[in-house]
Amino acid sequence: MRQVYLDYSATTPVKQEVLNEMLPYYTENYGNPSSLYSLGLKTKEAIDKARSQVASLINADSKEIFFTAGGTEADNWALMGIADGLKHKGNHIITSKVEHHAILHSCEFLEKHGYDVTYLDVEPDGRIKPETLEKAITSKTILISIMMVNNEVGTVQPIRELAGIANRHNVLFHTDAVQALGNVSIDVKSLGVDLLSMSAHKIYGPKGVGALFVRKGVRLPNFLHGGAQEMGKRAGTENLPAIVGFGKASELAKENFNDHVKHLSELRNYMVDRIVAEIPKVYLNGTLKYRHPGNANLTFDYIEGESLLILLDSKGISVSTGSACSSKSLKPSHVLDAMGIPWEQIHGTLRITVGDFTTKEDIDYVVDQLRNIVETLRKISPINDEKGW
Ligand SMILES: *Cc1c(COP(=O)(O)O)cnc(C)c1O
Repeated sequence: MRQVYLDYSATTPVKQEVLNEMLPYYTENYGNPSSLYSLGLKTKEAIDKARSQVASLINADSKEIFFTAGGTEADNWALMGIADGLKHKGNHIITSKVEHHAILHSCEFLEKHGYDVTYLDVEPDGRIKPETLEKAITSKTILISIMMVNNEVGTVQPIRELAGIANRHNVLFHTDAVQALGNVSIDVKSLGVDLLSMSAHKIYGPKGVGALFVRKGVRLPNFLHGGAQEMGKRAGTENLPAIVGFGKASELAKENFNDHVKHLSELRNYMVDRIVAEIPKVYLNGTLKYRHPGNANLTFDYIEGESLLILLDSKGISVSTGSACSSKSLKPSHVLDAMGIPWEQIHGTLRITVGDFTTKEDIDYVVDQLRNIVETLRKISPINDEKGW
């Protein structure tokens, strides 16, 4: 049976070129980067190279990149670190209602420890109005954390404007750029952000490695205590092959950026156009204008997203219902909820994300299967109040 993976926002396969770079660091070049003999120096150089490859993708300086064990760790470090480091200045943090759980659950943890958190509303298109942020800032605000690109709906936030407001009020600005990396152009210098989270496995690199950008001059407390790795800020022997892989994946993302964005947006638009034309009562959530090039988030009236997901899976097709986290519970997606989408419609929503290995034939296969499955499910749906399409 044909296998079609359309969940690139959940994770991506490691590209062969990336794996080829990584492999020698398991078997031949295995020296500890902290060792002083040449086997160690060689691996230290490999980490330095990866650091500059990652830095180059976001126009940062190598010294501003700190490797972590993924996007979640980078988010936790940014929030916990700044909250702790600036507690003498204030206890107020601003974020949004549509963040990834790595941010939301970190904020809930901080609330239990005496911090006040404001969760900003979004507009119906999923974006944050700069005025909404400006109004929420108080004299106690120490950190603003707003994601660059949403993982469920693909919404691109106006980060330059939002960071500009933070800068004018002398408040630090963090952005979770895990979904943005490689998919929208990122220049930390012109964006004016202070901290930025990244992850390798969303850009065809390995899982379990990411990085936090910390702008020069921002004082961020150390996260893990032990050896002198990551300039003393994040101790522990480096995940050498993974870091090398992240570096290579970043280099490829930079090189292929224009082709990648063109490929994704063409296939995504073709898919959405076909689905909307061929299946009745389907809606695209969010704006097309400010959107991740590979993201489609669609509501199918009178249908359970879970049933769709299972029947698509039986045809070899992998998609997600809104977000990987909410797919394991019946809790409606907090992102679609914040956008004002009614509960019944949230339950009929699929997130379909295309990537570099997706082909037009894949899309044709998926749309044909989807059309049949939707037709079948609607015939037996108890909530279908419009019989006889
Ligand atoms: C995937 C993701 C994360 C978590 O990154 P991991 O490397 O899987 O820990 C954080 N934020 C967003 C927006 C994501 O899409």
